[in-house]
Amino acid sequence: MSAKDTPVMRQHAEAKRAHPQRIVFFRLGDFYEMFGADAVYAAKALDLVLTSRNKGAPDEIPMCGVPHHAAHAHIARLLELGKSVALCEQLADPSKCKGIVPREVVRVISPGMTTDREHLDDGVNNWLMALELSATDIGLALMDISTGELSVARLENTTELLAEVCRAHPREILVGVEGQTARTAELESGVRLILPNVTQRQDDELDPSELAWGLPEDTPVELTVTERRAAARALRLARTCRPGKVIPVERIIRWDPRDSVVIDEIAQRHLELVDSANGDKQTTLLSVIDQTQTPLGARLLRRWVLSPLRDSGRIRRRLDRVELFVVQSRLRTDVREELKSVGDLERLATRAALHEATPRDLGGLRDGLRAAARVVEVLENVGVASEREALGFGEVSVDVVADLFAELERALVERPPAQPKDGAIFQSEYDAQLCECDELRRSGTERIIALESELKAGTGIASLKLRYTRVFGWYAEVPRGQVARVPADWRRKQTVATGERYTFARLDDLADRIQHAEERHRERELELLEQLVSLAGRASSRVKTIAAKLARWDVATSLAEVAHRFDYCRPEVDEDDILDIEEGRHPVVERLVAKGRFVPNSCTLSMSAERMWLLTGPNMAGKSTLLRQTALCAILAQMGAYVPARRMRIGVVDRILSRVGASDNLARGDSTFMVEMRETTKILRTATRRSLVILDEIGRGTSTFDGLAIAWAVGEYLDAVVGCRVLFATHYHELTELAARSDHIGNRSVSAQEVDGELVFLHRLVSGSVSHSYGVAVAKLAGLPERVLARARALLKSFEEGTPRGLEKSQTAGDAKRQLGLFEPKDPMLEQSRWIVEELRELRTDALTPLEALSLLDQWKKRLLSQ
Ligand code: ADP
Repeated sequence: MSAKDTPVMRQHAEAKRAHPQRIVFFRLGDFYEMFGADAVYAAKALDLVLTSRNKGAPDEIPMCGVPHHAAHAHIARLLELGKSVALCEQLADPSKCKGIVPREVVRVISPGMTTDREHLDDGVNNWLMALELSATDIGLALMDISTGELSVARLENTTELLAEVCRAHPREILVGVEGQTARTAELESGVRLILPNVTQRQDDELDPSELAWGLPEDTPVELTVTERRAAARALRLARTCRPGKVIPVERIIRWDPRDSVVIDEIAQRHLELVDSANGDKQTTLLSVIDQTQTPLGARLLRRWVLSPLRDSGRIRRRLDRVELFVVQSRLRTDVREELKSVGDLERLATRAALHEATPRDLGGLRDGLRAAARVVEVLENVGVASEREALGFGEVSVDVVADLFAELERALVERPPAQPKDGAIFQSEYDAQLCECDELRRSGTERIIALESELKAGTGIASLKLRYTRVFGWYAEVPRGQVARVPADWRRKQTVATGERYTFARLDDLADRIQHAEERHRERELELLEQLVSLAGRASSRVKTIAAKLARWDVATSLAEVAHRFDYCRPEVDEDDILDIEEGRHPVVERLVAKGRFVPNSCTLSMSAERMWLLTGPNMAGKSTLLRQTALCAILAQMGAYVPARRMRIGVVDRILSRVGASDNLARGDSTFMVEMRETTKILRTATRRSLVILDEIGRGTSTFDGLAIAWAVGEYLDAVVGCRVLFATHYHELTELAARSDHIGNRSVSAQEVDGELVFLHRLVSGSVSHSYGVAVAKLAGLPERVLARARALLKSFEEGTPRGLEKSQTAGDAKRQLGLFEPKDPMLEQSRWIVEELRELRTDALTPLEALSLLDQWKKRLLSQ
C-alpha cells in the first residue's frame, strides 16, 4: 500500500480537500500532525523538525507535528502570520474503538475568527471584516466572534473604506465582489499599505440560502443589499469555522460612519492615536489616557479614541458622565476599586454562549457578576435625577443578572480548575448526587485506612501499606523481609525495589467501590458543568448588557481619573465655528518627553474670522507639537473626554486631515514628494468647511521653487475654496505673505533665542512670523562638525547678501523670489531699514535745499548706525 493510500491518510486527504487554504492539524494520538505542503510550511514557520511518513519510499510524505497540549502557542503563531488552521479531531476514544478512529474537522481557527484567550489581546477587539463591493457602494461588516458583536455599514468609496480599515485594524478581511474588479485591486493595495500582514481573501459566491442568517428578529430591516451581503459573508465564515455550533451573535447593529469624525488613515498614523510610528505603545494618545480597570473599558476607550463623535449633544452627555466622576472623587475611587474585579464579562459570556466556557471561566463570570453588582450598588446611591440619568439608570433598574450569579455562587468552588477533566469544580452540597459520590469517596478512603490497620494487626506486618497509583490501582505493599507473612490468598502484582505489591479480593472490592464513586463523581461534575454552561450561555445577552454599562462607567471613571491627575478641563462643545484652546498641552509630550516643563500654548481659529494660522519657527521649536496637540485636543473633546488645556471651546469638526512629515512612508518605496502630494490631494479633495486640517512642511520634497509654489497654492485653496480651520507649519517664510492677502489667515511663530551663540527654544507661540530659521544653530545642536558648521555659516551669509559665491549654477532662494515676483525681501537688515525706503518715497527732493538734504542724510546715517 502506498503511503498516501492508508485509511488515515485518506482521512487527511478528505480534510484537506474541504480546507485547501488552511493548515490541517490532524490529530494522531497525543499529537497534531501536519502533512505535505502544510508540514513543509509549518516546520519552517514554527521551527519544527520536518520528518516524513514512509521515509525512504518513493512516495514519502513530509510530516511534522506538535504535542496537542502545546498546540495553542503554535496556532497563535500561525494566526499572526495570517494563516488559518483546521483542527481535525479524533471523534472517539481510540482505546474503545475497533478499526480506524473516525476523524473530522471540528473547528477552523482563522485570525479573525478565534475565541481562545491565547490568541486574543484583552484591550483590543478581534475584528473580522467582510466586504461586499458593488458598482455603486460598499457593504462593510465587522464581526468579533469573541464578543459576539456584528455591525454593518454602507460606504461610498474606497477612501472611506480605507479609513475604516485603519480604524478597525481587522485581523482578517473577506472580500466579496459583484462583477467589477477595478475596486478590488485599489482596495487590496490600499489595505496592504495600512496592514501589511492582514489576511485578505477573495470570498466565494454567496448562494441565496446563505443570505438567510437565522438571526433573531431585531436585525434591522433597513439594511442595504450590500450591507446584508457583507453580514452574510461574515456569518458564513463563522458557520464554517464552527460547524454545528451556535454563533454567539444576537443582533446586527447598523452604524453610520458619518456619525463619527473621519480621521483618515494618514492622520490616524501621524497623530499616533493607538499605534506609534516606532511601535512603542507607551507613546500613543490611548496609552496616556487609558486608566481603565477592565478589558471591556479598554476596548471601548480604544474605539472612542478612533471614532470621536460629531453630534454635540451626544458628546455633552458623555462629558456629563465624566464630569460627575471628576467632581465626586470619592465615588470615582469606589467605583474604580470595584471595577478591578469585573474582568472580561463580555468575552466570558460569549464563551458560555459558544459552549466553550471552562470551569475557570465560570468562576470568572461569578466573580465578575459579583463585582458588577457592587459597582451598581455604589452608583445607585447617586441621588440626583440628572446624574442618575447620565449614568444610565433610567426608570427600570439595572439587571445585574443576580439569578445567574446566585447559581454560580452556590455551585462553584472558590477557584475552579482550568479544565473540566481536572475535577473538583463544584461544592459538594450543590447537588445531592455529587454529595453522595463524595460521601462514598470519603468513606472509601476511611475504610482503606481501617483495612490497613486491620491487616497490620492480622498479618503482623507492621510496615504494611495500602497504596494507590493511577496505573495499578490499589495494592498492599510489603517489605521484602516480611513476604513470608503474606496470607496465601493474596496475589502478587508487582515487584519493586522496596518490596512486593499484592492485591486480594477485599481490597479489589473496596477499590472498585471507590473507583466507581470517583467515576460517578466525575461524570456528574461534567453533567452539572454542561448545565451550568448552558445556563450562563442563555443569560449571555443579559450579561453583555451589564458589561456594556460597566464598560461605559469604566471609561468615564478612567477619563475622570486622568482629568483629575493631570489637570485636564472640560471642553465646551457646540455647533459654532470656533476652535479655541487656551493654554493647550500635548497629552503625550507633556507626560513623557517634557515632564514638568511643557510650555502651554493657545490657539484660536474661527471659520468666519482668522481660520488659518501659518506657523513659522526654527526646527525643534515645537511647531509639529502644537499642530498635533491641537488635533489631539479636538479628538479628546469630541470623544467626550476632558482635554489638557486651561479652557477649550470647539464647534464640532467633521474630519481631521493631516499631512505631517513623510519619513515613515519612505520604507514603502514611494518618493517623499509623491507621497506628500498624494496625501495633500486627498486632503484637498475631502476637506469640508467643518474640517480641521493640519499641514506640516508641504512641498519640502521638491525644489524650493516648486515647493513654495505648491504650498502657496494649497494655502490659498484651503482658505478661499474650503474655508476650514487650518494650522499650516512651514519653512517657507515667503508663505507668511499670504496673511497680508487674506483676512482669514494669520501668522504665528514659535520662538527661539540665540543666547551667546547657543540656541534656546522657548516653545512659546507669538504673533507674527520669524524670518530667521536658526538652521545652522540647530545643526550645531545636532552635533554637526565645526568645520561644516563654519562653512555653512559663511555660505548662509553670502546667500543672505544675495551673492552665492561658488553656487552660481544652482537656484537660490533669491532667484525664487525674483522669478515669482510675489515676495518682499525678508533679510532682517533690509526689514529693519524699510523706513528709509518709505521716507525716500515720500521725499520731495525738489522742495529741499542742499543744506536740508545734507542734514537729512546725516540724520539717516545716525539712525541707521544706532539700529
Ligand atoms: P518642530 O516641528 O518645530 O521641528 P517639534 O514640535 O518636533 O518641533 O518639537 C521638538 C521637541 O521640542 C519636541 O520633541 C518636544 O520635546 C519639545 N517641545 C515641543 N513643544 C514643546 C512645548 N510646548 N513645551 C516643551 N517642550 C516642547
